[in-house]
Amino acid sequence: MKQEFMQQHIAAPEENLFGLDKTELEQLALSCGQPKFRGAQLFRNLYARRVGDLSGCTDLPVNFREVLSSRYRVEYPEIKAKAASRDGSVRYLLELEDGEKIETVYMPDERRVTLCLSSQVGCAVGCRFCFTALLGVKRNLTAGEIVGQVVAVLEAQQVPSGYPVNLVFMGMGEPLLNLAAVMKAVRILSDSNGLALALRRMTVSTAGIVPQIRKLAQEPARPKLAVSLNASSDEQRTALMPVNRKYPLSELLQACREFPLGPRDYVTFEYVLLDGINDSDDDARRVAALVKGIKCKVNLIPYNGGSELPYRPSALGRVLAFQEVLRGRDIPAYIRISRGQDVMAACGQLKLASTEGTTVPVEAALPQPPA
Ligand code: SAH
Ligand code: SF4
Repeated sequence: MKQEFMQQHIAAPEENLFGLDKTELEQLALSCGQPKFRGAQLFRNLYARRVGDLSGCTDLPVNFREVLSSRYRVEYPEIKAKAASRDGSVRYLLELEDGEKIETVYMPDERRVTLCLSSQVGCAVGCRFCFTALLGVKRNLTAGEIVGQVVAVLEAQQVPSGYPVNLVFMGMGEPLLNLAAVMKAVRILSDSNGLALALRRMTVSTAGIVPQIRKLAQEPARPKLAVSLNASSDEQRTALMPVNRKYPLSELLQACREFPLGPRDYVTFEYVLLDGINDSDDDARRVAALVKGIKCKVNLIPYNGGSELPYRPSALGRVLAFQEVLRGRDIPAYIRISRGQDVMAACGQLKLASTEGTTVPVEAALPQPPA
């Protein structure tokens, strides 16, 4: 095993270390003739100290640093452009090593910051109301690219370490179709010697890939589960989310019912309100019946539209009425104000092609010194 590992690393001298976990870095230290604990030190340098450069790993012996620099790189996604919204949120366009682009959204409020992370380049699930769907899927992100979004944006926004950070996998892509990389990233992000972010502040949102929800349920330490419900019947849901044909509501809700929850945990159901499609009082009553018996809350998301898609957002009065029906049936229901609408950074709007005109190069977006 060790032999194989050595060969693998000798054969890939330019390998990027960012995204390797502690065990992999320990193996790598051994393959460089170093004691195992040097791998754990390297882990702390990459993720807790965020050195960004092997020469910055000053607690490693010089000869090990030299070997590392000659064989490996440390790189994470590069910020190519950003667009700041009036509401304080900032949409980042990041470039990956192969030139693909993804988006990450930064959303501050009084007590915390929330990062909306991408899990794939594009998405294959094909929900009818979603802009990311228009891209199709190009590829999965690696764990390093997922962790890299967090590091790049926290650094750019100068978020102090220890500040409360919420992570939501609600950007581009279906995280449960890239579960291995998402979980590897979650472990690095939550490790006390990694980024040390709180696992209870991380949420994975899924369109309802039932076998993957069950897989997530088996993880010993897992993020919270959010499920995009978006419809009150199978017929309606299949029309909006073709994935419902494969994983219909009964199976989806059964998986949610069986999802292990701690005493303070709940499943979040997201529900995008589409004018005249899924937003009637009858829909709300059916939603209440569907989620009955599941410890949950429902987030009502006003639809974010655009000329390429045929839907319209529900009127505010309708949104409030929908919420009332759920609340009247003892289901906690909240209206999720979409952030960053003026820069197309709101839920489901992350699609590069339609928005190229709205992001600006980083230099132009940064505060300019007085002339
Ligand atoms: N693929 C995952 C996570 C990314 S989508 C999922 O579907 O859950 C994140 C959320 O944005 C989902 O709840 C989705 O229903 C919602 N969404 C998609 N398009 C939207 C739009 N145009 N307006 C508002 N919300 C949208
Ligand atoms: Fe993919 Fe989520 Fe958009 Fe559906 S809503 S197409 S699963 S990103």
